[in-house]
Order: sequence, then C-alpha cells, then structure tokens
Amino acid sequence: MRAHLLHKPAPVEAEPLTLEEVAVPEPGRGELLVRVLCCGICRTDLHIVEGELPPHKQPVVPGHQIVGVVEKLGPGVQNWNIGDRAGIAWLRSTCQQCRYCQRGRENLCEHATFTGWDHDGGYAEYATVPAEYAYRLPAEVDPVLTAPLLCAGIIGYRALKRADVRPGSTLGIVGFGSSAHIVMEVANYWGCEVFVFSRQPHHRELARQMGAAWVGTIGEEIPRKLEHAILFAPSGKLVPPVLEYLDKGGILAIAGIYLSPVPELNYEKHLYFEKEVRSVTANTREDGHELLELAVRIPLRPHVTTVPFEEANRGLLELKRDRFQGSGVLVVSADAR
Ligand SMILES: [Zn+2]
Ligand SMILES: [Zn+2]
Repeated sequence: MRAHLLHKPAPVEAEPLTLEEVAVPEPGRGELLVRVLCCGICRTDLHIVEGELPPHKQPVVPGHQIVGVVEKLGPGVQNWNIGDRAGIAWLRSTCQQCRYCQRGRENLCEHATFTGWDHDGGYAEYATVPAEYAYRLPAEVDPVLTAPLLCAGIIGYRALKRADVRPGSTLGIVGFGSSAHIVMEVANYWGCEVFVFSRQPHHRELARQMGAAWVGTIGEEIPRKLEHAILFAPSGKLVPPVLEYLDKGGILAIAGIYLSPVPELNYEKHLYFEKEVRSVTANTREDGHELLELAVRIPLRPHVTTVPFEEANRGLLELKRDRFQGSGVLVVSADAR
C-alpha cells in the first residue's frame, strides 16, 4: 500500500512526509483492518510532523480522523463485519484499569495510546484499530463530511461540555478553524448566541455566513459579556483578554493540545468572581459516540476543502498558513465520494 511516512519531524515547508510503498498492516487480536477512504487533516498532525509533540514512533504515519471500510477482522473480533463503515479517531486505546479509566475519565488514562502518534494513522491506504475504539458509522454518511467530526468534531464537543455550554447561552469562540466551525454548528442548534474572534478574513466570512451574532478580533469591545468561551487558537497570550470578556462565573475552555506560554494573570481582572479556566485533554469514547449521534440528528455538515492523497505535505502547509475555510480532508481513495 501507499503511505505517507514521517521519518523525522521538520518544518512542513521542507516536505517531511514521504510517500512510500509499504506492506498492508495485519490486524492484531481484537483489531480491524480498515481500507481508508479519507482522513481529516488536523492541527495535531502538524504538531507531530513539525515536532512540537515529540515522536512516539519513528517512522510514523500521521492522521487520526479516518473514515474507511472494514477489510479484515483480526482474531477475536465480534460485532463487526467486513464491509462495515468505520471511523478511527485520536484515542486508540486506554488501559481500562487505572483510576482515571475506572472513573469514566479515560481521556486522562496514564497508558493511553493515540492514532498517528503511537501507532500508524490514516495518511495511508490502510490502517488498523482496536475494534473497541473504532466508531461504527452509518453506511449512508458522506465520508468526506464525516472525517472532520472524528477529531475536530469530538474535541470541539468535549470543549463545549468543558465550558459547560447550555442551550441559549452566550458563547465566545476564539480562532475559527476546523473544530471551531463545527462547534458553532452545534451551538447554533442549541440556540446559543455565538461571538467569533478571528483575524482571518475568510474565517470571519464563514462565521458570518453561519450566523454569528458578532464577529471581530480580540481587543474590540463586545456588546455583552460572555458566559462561556472556547479558545481554539494555540496562543497563550489570548488567555487574559478572553478572561476579561467573561461574565461573572464564566468559564473558558482551552481546546488545543498545544498552547504557547500564558502571560501572567491578574487575579482581580482575570479570575475573581469565580471565573474558571479549564483545559480539554483528548476525549472519552462516550464523547465520540455522543457527538456522532448529534451529527446525524442536527445534521452536521462541516465546510470542507479536499486535498488529493499525494499532496499531504501541501495540505499540512495550507493548514499551517490557515488557508482552509472550515476543515481540510485528505482524499485517500477514489470512492470516498
Ligand atoms: Zn487507564
Ligand atoms: Zn486531531
């Protein structure tokens, strides 16, 4: 099969992914072999390719928003059939025994492994996944519109939960990329009033098209204080100004896996009146199932730009330069559409 391998992290401008011919992986005990139709391009892939996240496996195939078709069942797999549609996401396995796993917080598992970091991911024609961590997808879903839900959607959904967003409340979204615009679709469905902060004209345009109550940049005055905010931009210096936008008792959730340093906070200005800052760390499978169920009900239709399989490096560069409006998806197989 053809796969994009990362032998050594490097700036994506240097095209660190090499497209190579490698053996199709064998599904191990309890695993599925999935023929990849398409794979969403995530900022975490960029952090792995460029080395902000240290290598866990070398070489590694990145990609953790995989929509595919089950091609082969490993020994001991039950309840899956060849030909089923499957989604593979970031969380690839947990120990199911540590105190976090036992308390329903498997996203914090000490022994968790991740797709496209600890194990090969979806920038390839085939990928494996433990069946218990695969998501069953309805046969009729559009693969390209579903791929971004598998990380951008799930993490965004967890961020909504962490920020305690309720139907009808006021929500600030800072940075308006893949995850943020899916969050906005969910918030719209819940009847929230959404304020979008972005410096990028094409992101602001999408936010307006999607019906944002207010669109602007950090530093501008807003008409009302925010009850909830989610920071998607990986920039720690935005934390203090966003906290200033929060109402008393407001909650800020930070959605990224990577954030540049947060400057000094002022207790009275930024935290007093029971404001809260919370991080978002990966997700549980429950988050994934809830989001995918919601996606069918709403239905979620992310704004997608496709990238041909051969052009993974370019896709990551477009993401780095913030060129995608909504989500980018690598189209691996001709029958993804
Ligand atoms: Zn665990
Ligand atoms: Zn991701």
